[in-house]
This record gives sequence, structure tokens and C-alpha cells, in this order.
Amino acid sequence: MTATRRNRRKGDKKSILLSAVVPMYNEEGGIDMFFERLEPVLEAITEDYEIICIDDGSTDATMDELLAHRSRNSRIKIINLSRNFGKDVALSAGLDYATGQAVVPLDADLQDPPELIAEMMEKWREGYEVVYARRSNRKSDTATKRVTAGWFYRIHNAIADISIPDNAGDFRLIDQRVNVALQNLPERTRFMKGLFAWVGFKQASVEYVREERAHGDSKWQYWKLWQFALDGITGSTTFPLRIWTYVGFVVSLTAFVLSTLLTIRTIFYGVDVPGYASLMVSVLFLGGINILATGIIGEYIGRIFTEVRRRPLYLVRETFGIDR
Ligand code: UDP
Ligand code: MG
Repeated sequence: MTATRRNRRKGDKKSILLSAVVPMYNEEGGIDMFFERLEPVLEAITEDYEIICIDDGSTDATMDELLAHRSRNSRIKIINLSRNFGKDVALSAGLDYATGQAVVPLDADLQDPPELIAEMMEKWREGYEVVYARRSNRKSDTATKRVTAGWFYRIHNAIADISIPDNAGDFRLIDQRVNVALQNLPERTRFMKGLFAWVGFKQASVEYVREERAHGDSKWQYWKLWQFALDGITGSTTFPLRIWTYVGFVVSLTAFVLSTLLTIRTIFYGVDVPGYASLMVSVLFLGGINILATGIIGEYIGRIFTEVRRRPLYLVRETFGIDR
């Protein structure tokens, strides 16, 4: 994008320059520390910023702490969801309300260093529309999480049409246009990494080292991460559904060749009584493949079901500082 176009948009009084979007779920105690680090960074970039905090149905004092901070700094805006919807939906809610020309989603636990936003803004001013933060290492994760995450990216990118960059989370800067494009994606299953990748636009990356959580515990458990990975894969490719045509073809072909050979052998050498082992193996093998294939179809149908119900993605209880 040319500098003149960018400047013209900057002169537009209606939209502000920079929105930070922060989903929060039971982050009491860490919030003071978070704002203490985020605000100076944003203020150094521009006076014209907003921090949109989404309280994702917290059951602790997160909301009270947010309100206290808002009474101190009115640039802090709050969306209170009616219950816990999960991080990706909370983030979608925040993006819907963000009015910035540049929008930066980040975590409340300071694992996404706010200082990086300045670097992202520079890339954005150069004309990039998506500037994602790439972790230069995953030292802050456990070995199991590192390995399983590695598998996920490898499998996803091998079978999905559009690859997602590995070692990149939701921490990124997106242009207003990208944000509008995201809002126009109708799906209920908000696998944000996949959606970010799908919309495209001019992309650049900046590197950072992911720190440990500053306060409190991570809300992810392995079962949830597994569900998340399934959402990611079923959300961006139908390959697991389609592969069974070919598996079925290969298995049938093998069965055909084998039965021909067996028939010929029986004709020439008579009936061979022992055969229990081979029978059992093929029955179990085929049974297993059948159940697996049905299960995969079930994963997709379950998601089709949530899509066709067309429920709203999230429900807002109340907002503070938001015009709409
Ligand atoms: N979060 C949320 N809703 C949830 C779980 C988490 O809004 O149901 C927020 C959380 O408050 C934090 C961010 O999402 O700001 C990342 O969560 P967490 O640190 O637990 O995830 P991890 O860093 O381990 O991936
Ligand atoms: Mg975290």
C-alpha cells in the first residue's frame, strides 16, 4: 500500500489507529501486571489506541479488576460474555468490536510480549496486512506439548490446502481489512489459526521468545488440545473424509486378488482347514477400518450440525465503552 493511502486513512477520525484485543478467563491477580506493561507500549506508539478486554465468563474477580482499570483509563473497553465460550470465540467477539486500523490480539498472561507490537506496527506501516509473531523456540512449553504440537502442524500442513505457519499463535497484527474479512467468515467453529491463514493478504513475521505465563495457570488440558487439533483439521480440509475411497479401493483390490489366489489353490490342492488366524486378522482389520472411517465421518457431521443450527457465536451480557 502506498504511503498516501495509509495517510488518508489515518486522517479518518472515525476509526482509531490501534486496537489491542485481549480474551480473559479467570485472570484475576495478573491483570494489574498486564496493563502496567501493555499501556506504556501502546502509548509510545500512539495516543489513539483502545484495549478491548473480553471477559470470557470468568468466575473470579476478573470483571471487577477490569472495571477498576477502566475507571482509571477510559481507553480500556470491556465486553462481558454471558458464559465461558472458549478463547477462540472470545477473540472473535473482541475482533467484532475492534475499530482500529490495526488490530492486535494478545493473551492476558504476558506470554505474548507487548513490546513486540511496536515492531509489528513498523511492518504494518511498510504495507503488510498481517504481521504474525513467530516463536523462535518453544522452550517455555513442556516436551510433550512441543512434540504433539509439532505433529499437529506436520499433519495439518500435509493434508490441508492452506498451510498454517508453525510456531505462530494468535499473537499478530492484522489490518482492518483483514479483520473485516474475518468477520465475514460465517463458521461457528472458530479455529482462528486456520481462519487467519485462509484469508491470506500480505503477510510478514517478526520473531520473539515466548515467556512463561506471568501469573496463574494455563487453561489448556490435553483433551482440550486434542479437540482443538480436530477442529483445526476438520475445519480446513476434507482429506480425512475422502481418503477412505482410496483405502477402500486398495483393500478391495487386495481382497479380490487374495480370494482369486485362494480359490485357485483350493481347486488344485483341496481344502486347507487351518485358517483361523488369517480370517481373524482380516475380519478385525476390516472391522477396525470401518469403525474408524465412520468415526471420522461422525466428526464432520457433528460439526455440520453445529453449523446448521446457526446459533450466535457468543452472547454479550454487557459492554463498557463500546458505542454499538
Ligand atoms: N482464555 C479465554 N477463554 C478460555 C481460556 C483462555 O479467554 O476459555 C484466555 C486466557 O485468559 C488468556 C488466553 O486466552 O488470555 C490464553 O490462555 P492460556 O494462557 O490459558 O493458554 P496457553 O497460553 O496455555 O495456550
Ligand atoms: Mg498462556
